[in-house]
Amino acid sequence: MKKISGVYRNQQMHWVGDGFPVKNLFSYDRLGQAISPFLLLDYAAPYHFDPTTAQRGVGSHPHRGFETVTIAYQGEVTHKDSHGGGGTIKTGDVQWMTAGAGLVHEEFHSPTFAETGGLFEMVQLWVNLPAADKMTAPKYQAIEAEGIPVIQFDDGAGHIRVIAGQFAEQTGPASTFSPVNVWDGALKAGHAQYIHVPVDHNTLVVVLEGEMSLNGSQKVADHSIVLFANDGEAEIQLEATTDAKFLVLTGKPLNEPIQGHGPFVMNSKNEIIQAFSDFNSGKFGEIAG
Ligand code: MN
Repeated sequence: MKKISGVYRNQQMHWVGDGFPVKNLFSYDRLGQAISPFLLLDYAAPYHFDPTTAQRGVGSHPHRGFETVTIAYQGEVTHKDSHGGGGTIKTGDVQWMTAGAGLVHEEFHSPTFAETGGLFEMVQLWVNLPAADKMTAPKYQAIEAEGIPVIQFDDGAGHIRVIAGQFAEQTGPASTFSPVNVWDGALKAGHAQYIHVPVDHNTLVVVLEGEMSLNGSQKVADHSIVLFANDGEAEIQLEATTDAKFLVLTGKPLNEPIQGHGPFVMNSKNEIIQAFSDFNSGKFGEIAG
């Protein structure tokens, strides 16, 4: 089995705008190349919002050099960008946005969700782009829940949704710039599952809800990540101590310098300075009124 190289938990919540109460579960700031090509994961754990007619979320902001992947577990997010794109990510849906050369967008609770209120739960994952693709044209993949293959474990033990990559001969709908797997799973209390991962990928398990035991002995609480050594082994074991909800993320390391600042992640300081200069001179465009 793959060796566990670290377990990290974050119970501290911060607000992104006024709509996203998130816990940052990993970031390239702290873990660098060990999590490449993944950069960051924010988890908005279930949070109750009262009904409102106000817009809650985060207004116009830019991105360049990577992709943002939004997974909606409960509630809805409406987005709009400077390239004329927009839409609503509903419960079970995934939005895979390639910021590439740069765009400006806004992310708000959908008007329908804001009006009714209720529990809101999301993940936003940032996936790095290879240097050769950082300036690719921005694009969206709006992935609806129905288009995501679900693999059921035996005995009703749980399931895996294949968002990107391949699991048990099912291919996820997301197209990616480097080889990655994004598997969204659930496991019922008392059940265990061996999972095969590519031998040359970095591998992370994100425990969103519940308590798990990994590789037979490592206890992991909710709002934690488990980082595995890239040691040529191809198997990990997941066991749910209580009903658990998790993500398995694997990716082939890019092995390129990571230089980030706020909403920009590039390979060098000069490219970051260029990103600020391009954004400030309006090259990312504007969201149409
Ligand atoms: Mn954003």
